[in-house]
Parts: sequence; structure tokens; C-alpha cells
Amino acid sequence: MISVSEARKKIIDNCPQARVTLLPLIEAAGCVLADNVYSPIDSPHFDQSAMDGYAFRFDDWDGKSGFKVIGEVQAGNGSGIDLHSSEAIRIFTGAALPAGADTVVIQENVVKEGNLIKIVTNHLGKGSNVRLKGSQVKIKEQILNHGHVLSPATVAFLAGLGFTHVLVYSNPTVSIITTGKELIKPGEPLAEGKIYESNSLGLKAALQQINITPAAINTVDDEEEKIIKVIREQIKKVDILILTGGVSVGDYDFVTTALEKCGVQKVFHKVKQKPGKPFYFGVHQQTLVFALPGNPASVLTCFYEYVVDAISKQTKKQYFKSIQLPLTNDFSKKKGLTFFLKGKINKDGVSILPDQESYKMNSFALADCIVELGEEKEVVRKSEMVSVRMITD
Ligand code: AMP
Ligand code: MG
Repeated sequence: MISVSEARKKIIDNCPQARVTLLPLIEAAGCVLADNVYSPIDSPHFDQSAMDGYAFRFDDWDGKSGFKVIGEVQAGNGSGIDLHSSEAIRIFTGAALPAGADTVVIQENVVKEGNLIKIVTNHLGKGSNVRLKGSQVKIKEQILNHGHVLSPATVAFLAGLGFTHVLVYSNPTVSIITTGKELIKPGEPLAEGKIYESNSLGLKAALQQINITPAAINTVDDEEEKIIKVIREQIKKVDILILTGGVSVGDYDFVTTALEKCGVQKVFHKVKQKPGKPFYFGVHQQTLVFALPGNPASVLTCFYEYVVDAISKQTKKQYFKSIQLPLTNDFSKKKGLTFFLKGKINKDGVSILPDQESYKMNSFALADCIVELGEEKEVVRKSEMVSVRMITD
């Protein structure tokens, strides 16, 4: 059995290099930029009015005389007009300034008589209410750095500059296989000895937290041949294969032998931890294989504590931050195993919830973090600082 830190290191050491992909902008939301980005245009692309009003040449204005309004320009149209001395043009927000104009007076600050306007404010300078060409960004200017995470605002910014695609680090593709003869779908009647299959849904929801949709979800019986068949189908298609159940030493635990028969190379099996001791990790060419013990709390714990690290290495994104917090209750544990405990953050720190057994999801359902207590720890006292992984957004 290896330690948690050894297991983490072995996983990272076996992760392939992050891949880069050109994605449609909207699909890249939340991803990390794989390159610096430069603006293909000046933005704004032309001098434009920031307000509804009248455009004119500031130097023509003596502070008292009026202007003749010789036309109008709506947003989206060119004016085709060349303004001369003492002339103004009706203009609207976002419309292009006609040649010769450099200033806009807002409509509230003019008095209009027929086609003449008089400006009735002193708070106007050359260039007022004008968004100059290139005043946001200039053509060829570097606008975003490699490593930037595409927020919704980033998406809007890039779309506004005409981008349709962007180079980002790819999300890995993931397939889930749950194993167990006892499993039936929620919604079906519960026959004797059967239980509702919940691991695939927990994993799918956890993947959704980090913007990944599993490519496939399969549930198979505890029969080696059937498990081998579905592993063979899935392993060549995805970057990460997650299995649940069947990795212990029971007579019907066929997953590790099935993986071996499919050519998966074992990196480790069994980690000094609770829950999830029988956790198995292997590789098949570029595909990482996580075979997690079937108890639902073990599955999600291993997902947050290990699978996410491998995904993070691919996407270059940090998920589920770890922080240090003081404990708000005492806790005793067995020495020699790292404990991952469902916790709840409160104003004084973090409390370890009751019902920590790996088959129980009642407290996990309420938890917002996982508290990690190292192998060497035995009694942990209130106010001691502990490592806490946040698992909710
Ligand atoms: P195993 O790792 O196959 O020995 O399973 C350990 C425990 O987890 C057993 O009580 C299983 O019935 C349960 N279990 C296994 N797979 C699932 C699943 N997909 N959903 C819910 N419980 C499961
Ligand atoms: Mg089983």
C-alpha cells in the first residue's frame, strides 16, 4: 500500500502533456488560453458617438453661435457626409462620426429651432462624448495572456473583436463505467438485494462542476467478460476512464483482472486512506484509468482528491481549492491512514460531520468540503489547523 502523497505523485507523473485545441469561442468559456492573444482590429473600429446628440467640429464653436443640422447618422450607417464650418449632424449612440466632426453634444444640451441648434452647456471640450478609434485596444496589441481563464466577459470581449475561435487547453474526454450486479436505475422498482445506481450520477455531476460532460456512462454486471468488453470499447475512445466497484478482494471483484486483460498497466492498487483504500490507478497508452471502490462516498472522495488533479494537469486550471482552517470539533482517528472527512465550513472554521462511513451519503450530501487528516495523526483537537478542500462553488 502506498501513501496518499505517493499516489498523487504517481498520478501526476503518468499524466500525458496537456493538449491544445482551437475551439469555437462559446465552447471555450471557462477554459485556459493556450497562447497570447492579439487584437485583429482597432476597437472601436472608427470614431463613434458615445451619446445621442449632435456631432460638430469643436474649433468651429465660439460658445454662442448655432449650427445648421445638415443630416443624421444612425448607428450602423456611414454618414457619407463631410461637415463644414457651422454645420452639425444629428447622431446616435454608436454611430460613426462624419468626417470633419470631432465632438458630440448630448441632445439634452441643445435648443433646437427648425434645423438650427444652439448649444446650451459650457461643459464641453474637444472630443467630448466621442469614443475614439482604437481607444479600447489597438490593432496587433496584446490583449490577453497565455494562461488567462475565459470568463463570460472575456468571451464577450473577444467576440466584440471578431474572434470566432480561440486556442485553449483541451478538456480531457471521460468515460464512466459502474460495475455491480446489484445496481438498478433510480425510478425502477427495488427488488430484493438490489440498490439504486448512484455513482455514475455523482460522478457526472462532479464532472459538470468542472465543465466536463462524460462521453459515455455504462453500467455492467459483475461478470469479467462483460466488464472486459465495455473497457475495450471505451478505453480507446477517451483520455480518462473511471470505473466504480469491483476493485476489492471479493469473489466477484473482477475489475482489476479485467483491466489487466485489456492491457492496462497497473501503477498502484490500494492507498493508505479512508475511505477508498482499494483505489486502483493504471494507464493504457495515453489513457488514465481510475478504478474506484464502489461505495458512493469513496467514489466522490477519490474523484475530488485524485481524478481532479489529473484533469487539472490537462486543462491547466485549478479546481476545488485547498485552504487551512481551524477545526471546530475534536476528532479521533486510526494512525497509519489518511482520513478524508466530510466537513462543513462555519464562521469559526470547519466541523467534521457525523456519519463518515463510506456507504453513507447523508452527511456528504450536506458537506461543502473534505477535511484531510494525515496518516500520522491520531487525535485532532478543536482549533488545530487542518487542510480543507472546498467542493462546492
Ligand atoms: P464494491 O466496491 O463493488 O465492493 O462495492 C462496494 C459497495 O458499494 C457495495 O455496497 C455496492 O453495492 C456499492 N456500490 C457499488 N457500485 C455502486 C453504484 N454504482 N452506486 C451505488 N452503490 C454502489
Ligand atoms: Mg461490487
